[in-house]
Amino acid sequence: MSRPVRFNIKAKDTKDWGINTVQMPDGHMGEGFFATSLDKVVGLARKNSIWPLPFATSCCGIEFMATMGSHYDLGRFGSERVGFSPRQCDLLMVMGTIAKKMGPVVKQVYLQMAEPRWVIAVGACASSGGIFDTYSVLQGIDQVVPVDVYVPGCPPRPEAIIDGILRIQDLVHNESLRRRSGDQYKGLLESYGIQ
Ligand code: SF4
Repeated sequence: MSRPVRFNIKAKDTKDWGINTVQMPDGHMGEGFFATSLDKVVGLARKNSIWPLPFATSCCGIEFMATMGSHYDLGRFGSERVGFSPRQCDLLMVMGTIAKKMGPVVKQVYLQMAEPRWVIAVGACASSGGIFDTYSVLQGIDQVVPVDVYVPGCPPRPEAIIDGILRIQDLVHNESLRRRSGDQYKGLLESYGIQ
């Protein structure tokens, strides 16, 4: 017996989907004009067009694949353009166990990214070495590069990874345009031996 075929012939009303448009930045509005500051506009654009570089070495990378899939769909946050060229990405996502031998490679990838750049440590291994408290495993990638957001879990579910992306979006949105040239930021990079 064949199954009845059903066609979706009714157009769905997107108002019920709970899809939000991007919020307008703070500013002054009058008849025919809207004025705000440059850093708010730049922050808004950057926040909604983050290009991730997935540095996946083990199981957490599989969760990231699910995060990119149609069910969770990271593209909803403007981050569907995953790149494997450090020079064209602004978010380094380290997912998985990082051996000490791999530490310099993570650092080199970070160095090849242009400013402004952000880093997420996804999962227990990238954040702290996880269960691998051994001589060969780096006990957290913050030993080699500065980390902006840590996502807990072994592995973190896609919801947790998305939550980490949202935390990064908050940082990106509210970051001052001058932060990267400030003494505090330079001091942070110098503490990692980065000029
Ligand atoms: S945190 Fe857990 S799931 Fe993620 S890479 Fe480490 S062992 Fe695998």
